[in-house]
Amino acid sequence: MVEEKENVASGNTAAGQETVSKKGAKKLAKAAKKAEQKAETAAAIAADDATGDKAVDHAAARYGLSEMIQSKDKRSEREFLLVPELSKHVDKGLFWVRGRVHTTRAKGKQCFLVLRQQSSTVQCILAVGDVISKQMIKFAGNIPKESIIDIQAKPIAVPIKIESCTEQFVELSVEQLFVISQAKPQLPLQIEDAARPENPDDAEGLNIRVNQDTRLDNRVLDLRTPANQAIFRLEAGVCRLFRDILTDKGFTEIHTPKIISAASEGGANVFTVSYFKESAYLAQSPQLYKQMAIAADFDKVFTVGAVFRAEDSNTHRHLTEFVGLDLEMAFKYHYHEVLHTIGNTFTAIFKGLRDNYSREIEAVGQQYKVDAFKFLEPPLILQFSEGVAMLREAGVETGDEEDLSTPNEKLLGRLVKAKYDTDFYILDKFPLAIRPFYTMPDPNNPIYSNSYDMFMRGEEILSGAQRIHDPEYLMERAKHHGIDTTKIAAYIESFRYGCPPHAGGGIGMERVVMLYLGLDNIRKTSMFPRDPKRLTP
Ligand code: ATP
Repeated sequence: MVEEKENVASGNTAAGQETVSKKGAKKLAKAAKKAEQKAETAAAIAADDATGDKAVDHAAARYGLSEMIQSKDKRSEREFLLVPELSKHVDKGLFWVRGRVHTTRAKGKQCFLVLRQQSSTVQCILAVGDVISKQMIKFAGNIPKESIIDIQAKPIAVPIKIESCTEQFVELSVEQLFVISQAKPQLPLQIEDAARPENPDDAEGLNIRVNQDTRLDNRVLDLRTPANQAIFRLEAGVCRLFRDILTDKGFTEIHTPKIISAASEGGANVFTVSYFKESAYLAQSPQLYKQMAIAADFDKVFTVGAVFRAEDSNTHRHLTEFVGLDLEMAFKYHYHEVLHTIGNTFTAIFKGLRDNYSREIEAVGQQYKVDAFKFLEPPLILQFSEGVAMLREAGVETGDEEDLSTPNEKLLGRLVKAKYDTDFYILDKFPLAIRPFYTMPDPNNPIYSNSYDMFMRGEEILSGAQRIHDPEYLMERAKHHGIDTTKIAAYIESFRYGCPPHAGGGIGMERVVMLYLGLDNIRKTSMFPRDPKRLTP
């Protein structure tokens, strides 16, 4: 081996004439070989044409079903590109791309395949020639939609804009194609149908629509639409912003138990689970535990986690399991210190979504009607009694101590929008009678309490209040509500060792996303929704 190398090296240092003639000979041999290969390919194609699929397949090694990837080798030499990166690699050689077959159509000696990666699509071309055989075209045209494939291809510029793909100025000239995971040929729903815009022009429903149950029954397919990809990325954004903004404000993230011994909010809407020889409940909120964290000197806390409600509410905005974004904070003298912190947190979330998630908002807007979300800085704060007065002015009869019904809540949202031009507002000082036992009464008016709700597009997304931190007063209020205080002894006990005044709130994550985007159903913003009629998938 070493000797051979030395010979080559000495050859290179030989006289110029000799080197040139050697090179020339090599070139000639190479050209002859190429011509021979070309002739062979032409003959093979001619034979393919003559005898159909049974003929020798000159591309046989370049396509097929891949063996199951079981991590046998690493193939780290393969450079994979993402679809949005392709335009930067035009005319730079061959690259691998993995994606789904969005559509494929073989026609004569060509196959047009659209490859999809999440929400990005690119057109791929296979044409019979030196590299591609007729059989390969047939194979590519028959791959079931949604199958995952690896292709090796050259990114090339296209002269005419491709309207139907997200990559409009580049296409892939495929040289190798392997199916990595094959989809069933019959899909329970077509991605194109599930992604079709809810177009008011199509009032007669001429276009195929996919109904909600079919979508949810086949959620894994439904989630592949661009709008759904965007919804759940934006939802991740809401959680990330909530975490980042509160962490910046000095809050600590905590985790509270979901299996609890007593209903945190009182009432009967709890799921019972068997707990060894006893029964336990699924937490309706982290309420008692986040307050106990305040009593334990954490000062400002938040938590993101599952919340369970055994309510047989079959509405557009109730789930039996949702994600709660909860926070609790000690304050010095007035619960408005907390109210303003929460209000400002929302403003920062709305700004973060507007500034960093515009692509997602636009993608949802391609399918659903999305009006830009409007908010004021600082947020609008109205008194509950002012809200009631606005409703009465609009002809609604509602009592001073009555909770807002859903239609009244929505109407008030419209009135507020018309008067103040905001989709977000805070209603402060709710009647005491309609709030949980741990809510601090208003010191100035016994019918009200130091509690508030926050609304987006006229629907409640947060409920919060100053909590009673005095154990005797808390006992009194719990008894007034008919609560068995022996069951919450540990909670009440935690205020006997000194606890700062504090307030907080609970937010429904899915509602925030639904209402931010102006969607009509909370099931659209829950990846695998749970409601009284749905426990699967
Ligand atoms: P609603 O009056 O709409 O039923 P609630 O008064 O029961 O709500 P809270 O118990 O105060 O709500 O919960 C705080 C927040 O949690 C609500 O503002 C809402 O955003 C969310 N939320 C409450 N219940 C549900 C539910 N069943 N499904 C989804 N989100 C919910």
